Amino acid sequence: MEPLCPVQVWEEPPLAELALETAAGAAMLAYGGWLVGKNRFKLLPLWAAAFLSWFTLCKYLICTRCERHGQLCEFYGLGKYAARLFPAQPGRTLDAAGITAEAASAGTLYFLPLLASLGRPRDLLKYMPVLAAALLTQFLVSCRRCALTATTPWKAACPNYKLARRVFV
Ligand code: SF4
Repeated sequence: MEPLCPVQVWEEPPLAELALETAAGAAMLAYGGWLVGKNRFKLLPLWAAAFLSWFTLCKYLICTRCERHGQLCEFYGLGKYAARLFPAQPGRTLDAAGITAEAASAGTLYFLPLLASLGRPRDLLKYMPVLAAALLTQFLVSCRRCALTATTPWKAACPNYKLARRVFV
């Protein structure tokens, strides 16, 4: 993989930015989970499995191989949380298992509430801005800082990293 070219030295993101991003992400998870439970109760275990996987398996497969492991990183500060669960694996890189786990978990958490709300336009209309706010704050807080400061080579493969490089660098 090509070495990355950071344009800024990394430092912890301001707490206000992390708080805003976390509030938007938590609102999306809470409202999305509630919609799945209300509209398609049988799909709730799938949503719960994605939630559990994202907060455990994905932290193992991704965060332990990231330069921000153990730090209050730009992605909801989760580098600190990940370090409480798993030690760093500096010799390992992101692999197909990590990409698959992240895509399946995050995709389910983002989009299962949409699927569960099909045929219920009011629920869809309420969930869309909540999802958009979570994705937008993530792009402005996490992806922007990542594009400016990241050095871990596997981050170059992330589509959001590529987009944020074009927008912010
Ligand atoms: S930047 Fe992303 S991959 Fe790295 S520790 Fe934070 S949440 Fe994990």
